[in-house]
Amino acid sequence: MFRRQISSKRDDIVVFEILRDSACAECGEPLGRGRWLRLEADRPLCLACADLSHLVFLPRGDAALTRRAAKHSTLHAVLVRFSRTRKRYERQGTLVEEAALARAEQECLADAEARARARERAAQRQTVRDAQYVKQFAERIGALYPRCPEAERDVIAEHACLKYSGRVGRTAAAKRFEAEVIDLAVRAHARHAHTRYDQLLGTGWERQQARAAVAAEVEQVVERWRTGCRGR
Ligand SMILES: [Zn+2]
Repeated sequence: MFRRQISSKRDDIVVFEILRDSACAECGEPLGRGRWLRLEADRPLCLACADLSHLVFLPRGDAALTRRAAKHSTLHAVLVRFSRTRKRYERQGTLVEEAALARAEQECLADAEARARARERAAQRQTVRDAQYVKQFAERIGALYPRCPEAERDVIAEHACLKYSGRVGRTAAAKRFEAEVIDLAVRAHARHAHTRYDQLLGTGWERQQARAAVAAEVEQVVERWRTGCRGR
């Protein structure tokens, strides 16, 4: 009844979780449904008689842990159960030595820590990159709008960078500090910080209406930052 239709390596010891009652051929212990047994020349053996009862069960699901635990285990077995719906044996997990499992868990933990450290370093690099990017952005604003106060350049740059960072990899244009991108960021800031735009929006104005209402003011501010003149 338990033929070789199991998808595990040939030399793996296979332990069956049984669906039908059986009994150990050696010690006679009745093995009910759900018990584990090993076949030895087609004779069912309880795990004690099969000398596998010292192994601990590691459920499937953690591939790295399973691989390591099996590697460190002098003896390990694969636990399978027959699926009546799928008409095949399915791997439920692995039986491994307790010490091997402990060692594997340690290694996986060490890995997780190493990964966490790597993530931290990556985040730090990203922070630095972002800071440099913001600084460059602010410098570009200074080049195009020399009269824009430095504090406002920083605010504009940070805001713009934040905005672009929320998008996929930031737009290429923003990365190249194209004049249009700088311009949009500067205008957006002028509109928000130097006109009644936000108030208008807050009192129910349509965005387009509000923009039109403050357009001239925005132009004045931007022109002043660009040339030092009041514009007009
Ligand atoms: Zn037995």
